[in-house]
Amino acid sequence: MPLLVAGSVAFDTVHTPVAWRERVLGGAAVYFSYAASFFTTVKLVGVVGEDWPDTYTDMLQRQGIDTSGLHVVEGGETFHWKGKYLPNMNDRETLEVHLNVFGDFQPRLPEAYREAPFLFLANGSPRLQSSVLEQTTGPKLVVADTMDLWIREEHDALMALLGRIDGLVLNDAEARLLTEEENLVKAGHAVRALGPRFVVIKKGEHGAMFFGEDEIYVMPAYPTERVVDPTGAGDSFAGGMMGYLAEQREVTPVTLKRALAYGVVAASFTVEDFSLDRLRQIDRSALEERMAAYEQMLRF
Ligand code: AMP
Repeated sequence: MPLLVAGSVAFDTVHTPVAWRERVLGGAAVYFSYAASFFTTVKLVGVVGEDWPDTYTDMLQRQGIDTSGLHVVEGGETFHWKGKYLPNMNDRETLEVHLNVFGDFQPRLPEAYREAPFLFLANGSPRLQSSVLEQTTGPKLVVADTMDLWIREEHDALMALLGRIDGLVLNDAEARLLTEEENLVKAGHAVRALGPRFVVIKKGEHGAMFFGEDEIYVMPAYPTERVVDPTGAGDSFAGGMMGYLAEQREVTPVTLKRALAYGVVAASFTVEDFSLDRLRQIDRSALEERMAAYEQMLRF
């Protein structure tokens, strides 16, 4: 089933303790789309400037991603994020954020996008997320992501959005910031109390925690020794998760749990190189192979 995603499309400059890359392809919606494209048809909503190479759009299209909702602003510059990882490769510092054309993006969804039954509101301003949600015709499942910038600067708009979505994925520091709860289990419950039916707290190399109506569980990260650049891990996680749910066409406790596992596996590939470089080398069978190994690890 079609899966709609709206969010940042970016150039990222990333410094890790051992290497760095300047202005590589990134953005929450890009990582998400690519990871989800292994499972289902993805429709991307985003904005770029004149500096955006057509070759990136071609590459996304070759992956089956519908880019008719990717708006190009003439004379504009693409969103640029600059970040630096600490030696533990888990924590990072944002050095610069240039929202550029993303800052005042007012999305207009192509007609063919509006009925998509699965919607992911990737990282972006809650006002933009709400505007996308309002243009859809009642999706079956709406999940959103957020981050510290929006929790601090657009708190009220974020609170309003939380009352209108089914699920929220966010990382541990963001969950603590949003709820002022240090304990993550308390934070998970507190986020659910703000609206979403389920919450996934991502903990980087420590995996993810799920909070639903009737259950809580943890999913460890897939152990890989080749951690080159964690950027996009969270978005790839969400892409694997939502992609699988859209493929399965139904959201039950069983499909959700398996979806989280696919998310973990998709993220484990992303961190193995900069940008989308590792994801671009794999196919569905590589995902399935790692998924089988992951299932084996969790059986006891
Ligand atoms: P992740 O590592 O999964 O949390 O996501 C990293 C991606 O988020 C990068 O590719 C950035 O371009 C993008 N990003 C960083 N800051 C923001 C922001 N304020 N709004 C939207 N996207 C962002």
